Amino acid sequence: MKILVVEDELKTAAYLEKGLAENGYTVDRAGNGEQGFHLALGGSYDLLVLDIMLPGKDGWSILEDLRRLGHQSPVLFLTARDAVEDRVRGLESGADDYLVKPFAFVELLARVRTLLRRNPARSPESLKIADLELDAVHHKTQRSGRRIDLTPKEFSLLYLLASRGGEVLSRTLLAEKVWDMNFDSDTNVVDVHVRRLRSKVDDAFERKLIHTVRGVGYVLEDRGQS
Ligand code: CA
Repeated sequence: MKILVVEDELKTAAYLEKGLAENGYTVDRAGNGEQGFHLALGGSYDLLVLDIMLPGKDGWSILEDLRRLGHQSPVLFLTARDAVEDRVRGLESGADDYLVKPFAFVELLARVRTLLRRNPARSPESLKIADLELDAVHHKTQRSGRRIDLTPKEFSLLYLLASRGGEVLSRTLLAEKVWDMNFDSDTNVVDVHVRRLRSKVDDAFERKLIHTVRGVGYVLEDRGQS
């Protein structure tokens, strides 16, 4: 389980990282809003812990921008301000839970566990988006009832895009999940495979499902006839 902590107070951030790591979580840390947003966008985090008051970009706008791009990772907000209107605003912008600073680590841990249980990674056996059908058990793909032959990597890539349909996935995340490559690797391999995947999945059909989001990555969704 991978958790991103976005917190500008060094002491709090170090305390969270240490405590979460001791409990078996992999933790990345960002000390400002911009960095936090980009890490969240590129990484495959199971949970985000977001401080609200951050330099660069506050916790609210990080969350709003992530949700706008389709990112569904659960979010636990940390706030030093115990005002009622803050809680309401946070809930409206899509936060899953709150913790008011200062808090006891055991309480944070309990909330983290609850959120992770509530949002188990979903990997269904079959997926259907428009006329595209994926069978993860037999690694079979078809469109409009027509069989499409994919290599195992192509299938993994398509399955990942389809299982998170409507969500923009970065090249980094795709490289990490499909090829098990780390953050700094050359992600050109992703573009090459997406191109091949498109030629098999989209080229023969009027309705395109795989879309490029310039500067961010790829998304699979049905946008109707184009
Ligand atoms: Ca802060």
